Amino acid sequence: MSAEDQGRQLELTAPYVTPLGVSAALADMDHANTFLAVVRGGSYWLIDCADNPVGRLQRAGIDPLAVRGVILTHFHPDHVYGLPSYLVGLYLTGLQSGRPRHIPLAIYARPEVLNLAQIMVGLFQLQEWTRMFSIDYRPITMDVGAPVAEDDDLAIFSAPTHHSVPSIALRFVAPDTGRSFVYSSDTSPCPEVQTLAWGAALLFHEASGAGYGHTSAAEAAALGSRASVARLVLIHYDTSNTHGLLKSARAHFDGPVELAREFERYSW
Ligand SMILES: [Zn+2]
Repeated sequence: MSAEDQGRQLELTAPYVTPLGVSAALADMDHANTFLAVVRGGSYWLIDCADNPVGRLQRAGIDPLAVRGVILTHFHPDHVYGLPSYLVGLYLTGLQSGRPRHIPLAIYARPEVLNLAQIMVGLFQLQEWTRMFSIDYRPITMDVGAPVAEDDDLAIFSAPTHHSVPSIALRFVAPDTGRSFVYSSDTSPCPEVQTLAWGAALLFHEASGAGYGHTSAAEAAALGSRASVARLVLIHYDTSNTHGLLKSARAHFDGPVELAREFERYSW
């Protein structure tokens, strides 16, 4: 295989993350609340669930039916309100395309989040629908670096964060390259995320503003520096006012810093 072919092959198989929304809790007419698809080899992990998930996946060029699992970081409305819509979307898309789901859908979260998600989904009585797939609720433990799931393509780990409700950050590792992507979800700057993010090729850190349970752009950048991450992307920011975010981040981080853009593919 030529070097060029090898490069192309790597590009095809390299994992990437696509923000399906980038906004903090108050989304606007041009943005959705923060949720992500982590993709490798044509299938994806869905991280949190907002807005119109199936439509946003389609717009990102991702087959909505090719889901490996859903991970909920915490039970705040802007992070989970799309879940019932997503389940109905998977069900109807599967039936309409002649590819109904035959295996359970795994949803991972901390136990208290799973309980609430189960109640929310239960209100719609979706499990009584004919040919509805079942849901496999899988709890995540609280430790820094707790294993979430693993297959040939990706290994996923979590860490508890500092937020107003129990929340987790996530680390995705490509076993073949050892390279990692870390997502803070909602949190104050905290040592747990710093440890989880250590040496990551790509860090998505929230930047909704200073104050308990959240982080400013400057604080996110300082944490990224302390964790020696290679590339920083700010997400979960106030999309109505991004003035000064990059400037204040760049004062604390030497590597590349960007504002997350919806549907952009960030390889790592
Ligand atoms: Zn939150």
